[in-house]
Amino acid sequence: MTLARVTLGGVVAVNLVILEIVFFAYGQGQHPVLTVAKFFGLHAAMIMMVQLTLVARIPWLDRRLGMDRLTAWHRWLGFGLFWTVMLHAAFVITGYATLYDMGFGETFLSLARVPAALLGMIAAGIMIVVVGVSIRYVRRRLPYETWHALHVLIYLALLAGLVHQFIEATTFSSVLATGYWWTLWTLVLGSLVINRFVVPVWRNAYHRFRVAAVVPEADNVVSVHVTGRHLDRLPARAGQFCIWRFPGHNRWWQANPFSLSAAPDGRSLRLTAKAAGATSAGLRQLKVGNRVFIEGPYGAFTNLHRKRDKTLLVAGGVGITPIRALLEESGGQTVVLYRAAKETDAVLLGELQGLAATRGAQVHLLTGRTGAGTPPNRPFDPANLHALVPDITEREVFVCGPPALTAAVVDSVRTIGVPNAQIHAERFGLG
Ligand SMILES: Cc1cc2nc3c(=O)[nH]c(=O)nc-3n(C[C@H](O)[C@H](O)[C@H](O)COP(=O)(O)OP(=O)(O)OC[C@H]3O[C@@H](n4cnc5c(N)ncnc54)[C@H](O)[C@@H]3O)c2cc1C
Repeated sequence: MTLARVTLGGVVAVNLVILEIVFFAYGQGQHPVLTVAKFFGLHAAMIMMVQLTLVARIPWLDRRLGMDRLTAWHRWLGFGLFWTVMLHAAFVITGYATLYDMGFGETFLSLARVPAALLGMIAAGIMIVVVGVSIRYVRRRLPYETWHALHVLIYLALLAGLVHQFIEATTFSSVLATGYWWTLWTLVLGSLVINRFVVPVWRNAYHRFRVAAVVPEADNVVSVHVTGRHLDRLPARAGQFCIWRFPGHNRWWQANPFSLSAAPDGRSLRLTAKAAGATSAGLRQLKVGNRVFIEGPYGAFTNLHRKRDKTLLVAGGVGITPIRALLEESGGQTVVLYRAAKETDAVLLGELQGLAATRGAQVHLLTGRTGAGTPPNRPFDPANLHALVPDITEREVFVCGPPALTAAVVDSVRTIGVPNAQIHAERFGLG
C-alpha cells in the first residue's frame, strides 16, 4: 500500500513540476489576469487526469489501495477540480472584461460566441450539475442509478474540456508541450478504456459466466453460484468483490457490487446478497443458466500484503461474505468475531463454524442490541475487543460490514495500538 501511495504521489508530483515549467515557459496571457486564468486552466486539466487515473481501475493500484479508497480520493479531488475550473472561468471573464473594458455579462456573452470558450463553458456547466448531485445530502436522496447516470455526464464535460484545451492553442505552443499533453492524455484515456471497457468485455466473452445455482440462505439472503469457462485463469482472490450484471433479469445499466462469499476455487464463484433493494431482493428469481456479466474482481481486502501470521476477522451482518472467503485461506491462528442482532440473523454461520473447526480457528458470535443491558452491550469498545482478543496487536485485522460498524471497529483497533499497516477494512458502500 505504501509503495502504491508513494508511486502515485511521485507520478503526480513529477507531472506537477513539468506543468509548472510548461506554464512559466508558455503561459503568458494578453493580460496578467489572463495569465492567472491559464494557471488554473492548466491545473484543471492535470487534476482531471488524476481524477480519471483514480477511477481507471488499474489493477496494480486497485489491489494495493482498494476501490473504496481510490473512490474516496476521487470524490474529494472532484470538489478540488470544480473550484479550479470555477477560478479559471472567473479569471478568464475578469481578464477579458478588463482588457476590453466591458461589463462581465457582455464579456460572458461575447466569449460564448467563440467555439473554444463555449466548449469550456459547456464543460463547466456539466461539472456544476455533477458536483451538485455528488454533495452528500443530495446524493443520499437520489436512487443510485440516477446519481450514476448523472455522474457519467462527466465524460461529456471531459470531451468538451479536452477539445477546449486543444483549440485553446497556448497549451500546445511548442513541440515539447504538445508532445507532453498528447502523451499524458493518451496514457490516461488509454488505461481508462482498456481497464473499464476492453478487459471486462474480453473477460466475459472468454469466461462466459452463467448462474449454476441459487440457494436461499435466509428469508432475505440468497447465494448465487456462478460457473464459466477457464475460471482457473480468472485473477480472483478471497476477499475481493465484483460488480455484477444479470442481463435479462435487470436492466443493462444496473450493476451492483457483491463480494465473493467463498474463496475462488477455479471452478465457480459465489456471491451472497442481503435484500437491500430491487436488485438484491430479486436475485432469488434468477434461473440456472442465466448469463452473468462481471466486472472485476476488484479490491485490496486480501491476504496479498499481510505482515503477520495470526489473523483477526471481524464481520458485521452481511459483511460476513468476504470474511467467510478469507477464513478459507487463513491458517489455524485465526479468530473470527461475527456481529449480528440475533443468532438467526447470522447467515453462513454453519459454514463458518465448519471451516473454523477444520482449521482450528475460533468463532465468536456477538449478538444483542448495541447499548442494551448492564454493562451496556458494546462488543467493539477497545476494552471489550482487547478482552476478547488479548494478542490483537500481533494480528492482521480484517473488518467488513456497514460503513458505521467498520469505522467504529477500525477506531477501536487503532486505539488498542494495532499499526495501520495491519488493518484492512472493506465498507459496503462506495464514495
Ligand atoms: C465493495 C462492496 C461489496 C459489497 N458486497 C456485498 C455482499 O457481499 N453482500 C451484500 O448483500 N451486499 C454487498 N454490498 C452492498 C450491495 O452492493 C448493495 O446492497 C446493493 O448494491 C443494493 O442494490 P439494490 O439495487 O438491491 O438496492 P438499492 O435500493 O438500489 O440500493 C440500496 C443501497 O445500496 C447502494 N448501492 C446500490 N447500487 C450500488 C452500486 N452499483 N454500487 C455501490 N452501491 C450501490 C446504494 O448506496 C443504495 O443506497 C457491497 C457493497 C460494496 C460497495
